[in-house]
Amino acid sequence: MRGSIVSETEESEIKGMMLYRGKKHGGKDVANWRILRPEVDEDKCAKCGLCEKYCPEEAITLDEEGKPKIDLRFCKGCGICANECPQEAIEMEKEG
Ligand code: SF4
Ligand code: SF4
Repeated sequence: MRGSIVSETEESEIKGMMLYRGKKHGGKDVANWRILRPEVDEDKCAKCGLCEKYCPEEAITLDEEGKPKIDLRFCKGCGICANECPQEAIEMEKEG
């Protein structure tokens, strides 16, 4: 794509990601797209469940206490969960 800041490979991956949106948890391994990974600080978490609602990959489930558990196989590292958390309980950490 001329003038793009992303390579053709990245553009293709982004299109694939967009096509995939709307599918349910567990359908596709997107972990290799990730540069950053979300880390939840359970002490800060207020168990509001917003991160689970906003995650576009449905990578987050809530445990029996209402705390989020992130299945990194399905997390693409977009950071939406961290942005939406009202408690700032999710930090995006560099992979590796
Ligand atoms: S960074 Fe958060 S919102 Fe984005 S895919 Fe991973 S768990 Fe979901
Ligand atoms: S959005 Fe933040 S406070 Fe709410 S459940 Fe998720 S981590 Fe906890």
